Amino acid sequence: MDDVANYDSIAKIRADDGEPRPQLLAGVVRGLYATYASQITAGGAPVPHCFADDERKALKENYEVLKRAQFDGLRSAILQAAGGRCPFCHQAKANEIDHFLPKAIFGEYSVFSPNLLPICTTCNKKKSNRYKQGGVRRYVHPYFDALPSEAFLRVDLKIDPNISVQFEVHPPGSMPQATARRLSRQFDDLGLAERYADEALEEMMDRLGSLYDYFDTEHAPGVEKYLRTDARSAAARRGPNHWLVLTLTALADSPAFCDRGFMRLGPQPPT
Ligand SMILES: [Zn+2]
Repeated sequence: MDDVANYDSIAKIRADDGEPRPQLLAGVVRGLYATYASQITAGGAPVPHCFADDERKALKENYEVLKRAQFDGLRSAILQAAGGRCPFCHQAKANEIDHFLPKAIFGEYSVFSPNLLPICTTCNKKKSNRYKQGGVRRYVHPYFDALPSEAFLRVDLKIDPNISVQFEVHPPGSMPQATARRLSRQFDDLGLAERYADEALEEMMDRLGSLYDYFDTEHAPGVEKYLRTDARSAAARRGPNHWLVLTLTALADSPAFCDRGFMRLGPQPPT
């Protein structure tokens, strides 16, 4: 994506609409584009440029132009950037565009593609205008922070008296501490423990009929094999940190769940 050319064409549209400031600030914004990567990767919190309020507002409003039909291609490229999924929860469909550094504060990055991320409605609402915490950047940036391919989430399964699952961030030793802290913060802010637990219970209920069927014919080993096979397929598609992969694996790993424990979810659904 040619962000400078995009900016220039947006600034021209604004000037034609009677707002000259984006064009007048083009040189400054171009310089700030060049510092975006270091803003994100530096140890401290990103710092907005000290524009006058009217300038920052004018730059923020550039984003309104990006919503016009002529930029449909750019918007759909952004939404598809993470395979159409929200890279913050790895769960829901990405149907909105997030400004990683909020456009109300960082007007200079309101139409800068590295700052525009696909996101789901729930994560976008919860993330809001937050971007720093205790003098450091608050969230993991999907384009700049490499996450390990190994598991960094964990699920704790309880069978007794009711079946429940609890998800938590469990960073491997190889993960940089700053990334681990951001992941934990993000997990809390976006309410991922509750959202994943809800999905996991729904998934178990959807599979209840199959669980009874496998138990009827092959007993606990049949239930375990069924869960493990599906966990493997899910892991191949979604990686080791997806709630579904973690849930199916935890269920398969639990002799108590496979040996009638699943019946605590409810009676056999009618056939
Ligand atoms: Zn999300």
